[in-house]
Amino acid sequence: MSVTDAVNLATAERASGHGESSETCDVAVVGAGPYGLAAAARLRSLGGLSVCVFGEPMSFWMGMPRGMLLRSNWKACYIGLPAGELTLDAFEAASGAKFDSPVPLDTFIDYGLWFQRTAVPVVDTRRVARVEQAPGGFRLLITDGGIVKSSRVVVAAGIEAFPARPEMFTGFSPELVTHSSEHRDLSVLAGARVLVVGGGQSALESAALLHEARVDVEVVARTHQITWLHGGTVQRRLGRFKPLLYAQTDVGPAGLSRLVAVPAVFRRLPRPLQAKLAYRAIRPAGAKWLVDRLANVPISTGRSVVQADAANAGVRVTLDDGSQRQVDHVILGTGYRVDIASYDFLAPQLIGEIRRANGYPLLGRGLESSVRGLHFIGAPAAWSFGPIMRFVSGSWYASEQLAKHVAETAPAA
Ligand SMILES: Cc1cc2nc3c(=O)[nH]c(=O)nc-3n(C[C@H](O)[C@H](O)[C@H](O)COP(=O)(O)OP(=O)(O)OC[C@H]3O[C@@H](n4cnc5c(N)ncnc54)[C@H](O)[C@@H]3O)c2cc1C
Repeated sequence: MSVTDAVNLATAERASGHGESSETCDVAVVGAGPYGLAAAARLRSLGGLSVCVFGEPMSFWMGMPRGMLLRSNWKACYIGLPAGELTLDAFEAASGAKFDSPVPLDTFIDYGLWFQRTAVPVVDTRRVARVEQAPGGFRLLITDGGIVKSSRVVVAAGIEAFPARPEMFTGFSPELVTHSSEHRDLSVLAGARVLVVGGGQSALESAALLHEARVDVEVVARTHQITWLHGGTVQRRLGRFKPLLYAQTDVGPAGLSRLVAVPAVFRRLPRPLQAKLAYRAIRPAGAKWLVDRLANVPISTGRSVVQADAANAGVRVTLDDGSQRQVDHVILGTGYRVDIASYDFLAPQLIGEIRRANGYPLLGRGLESSVRGLHFIGAPAAWSFGPIMRFVSGSWYASEQLAKHVAETAPAA
């Protein structure tokens, strides 16, 4: 738990101990990223429900590197609905500006904020410090000490709590080693020697941005060769036949794209097959528009880091072929590992009651966990509903199923 979150929790607990008055709502949504906003919009459209949404809208995206482009294609960037009044096209028309594909990060953030203002005008920007069970549902402690009682809670808190750091890089100061998620402005490293570890989009795009900021950068990836995504070109060549092989969700290669876009079918496949197909759909890869931008960046493939030591005011990294790199800084583009126990706002007792597999909650209809009235959407839903839950384009399915279930089911007793 971060120092800020610990202070917030202490404040919230003190306030609750003093019996401060509480608000109530039917559904509390924790997180105002694409999934939380999509869910809140759908729940509000049911009518008659009070829906509270917590968190700074689109804040995770605001922390991503300046100059980043989204890997997903244009239509896969739609939040919540595959068509209609809240698409990226609708935002483009409403704003009067002309946007490009691939979608720039700032455009996507503006779109998310426009979606929020249009569909979910009231958001409580405070963070939730604690969610715990209470008679009739749940009690939420809010960072400034407020208390909210709610029949249902939808956890839409994303992946910010899950950065994966290989063991040999623990214990380093942030001056020497950071995760790719910690960088908004990579130009602060101009003039430094930087090693990027990883062979997926985050690692490769970070390396491109570093190179363009005049950083002396090298990439080390375990994979034997970098996979470049040429899906867009193939899709354009298919013309009107494209929908036969590719779903609008834009997750996975030809054919598999259509299967993973139907989570209700995907989740019924045998678990080992699901695992294999999910890996194939989201294996580490780089967008094809990175190829030219990385032409002058050395990329060592088929190599793993076996040791890292603080040395000469920097980091000495040893690879599995015995070679070493002496750098000023290491950036870990090593992805995210979902483990809901790392959501520090979930009370330990509540976490203990959630049936889990590999850190993911096991979810049923309406993306509800084994704790009645507690739902998870976004990446934590990927074990139960497949790989599209890791992408914005899955927010359509998650929000639709959640709203349907809430409409049909009585609140927690
Ligand atoms: C570098 C990078 C590039 C990516 N590119 C793409 C892409 O091109 N296409 C794509 O589909 N996906 C992409 N992703 C994946 C992307 O993270 C998810 O698709 C998307 O963020 C899922 O939305 P979400 O609402 O689940 O999570 P988020 O957008 O992370 O939203 C969750 C929100 O909850 C907030 N929150 C957490 N805890 C609390 C709390 N206790 N109280 C209140 N609020 C809280 C967080 O601050 C955050 O704002 C990328 C990810 C990274 C890291």
